[in-house]
Formats: sequence, C-alpha cells, structure tokens
Amino acid sequence: MVKEEIKEGKTYYQCEVCLFYYKTRKLAQECEDFCNKYHACSTELTKHAVQF
Ligand SMILES: [Zn+2]
Repeated sequence: MVKEEIKEGKTYYQCEVCLFYYKTRKLAQECEDFCNKYHACSTELTKHAVQF
C-alpha cells in the first residue's frame, strides 16, 4: 500500500517495500507492484525516486 507523506508542504508517495519516495502515486504504485513481484527495484522506476 503506497504511503502518502507530506514533506515541506509537498505530498510525496512512498513505496512501502523499498521505501523510495515518488512525486506521483502512479510511480510509487508501479514501484511497489514491481518490488512485490520481483523483490527487487526497477532502475527504470528508481531513477524517478525523490532524494531528500
Ligand atoms: Zn519500491
């Protein structure tokens, strides 16, 4: 289940498996689906992850 988190007034979406943050729920959901299925991250998705 993608987690919503507000940081510095902006909403980010977190993949609960790998704990990366994304700017859109769609990306976080895709990441989580991938993580759950393959137990690994997709570099295609994690390159969109937000760094804090
Ligand atoms: Zn993930």
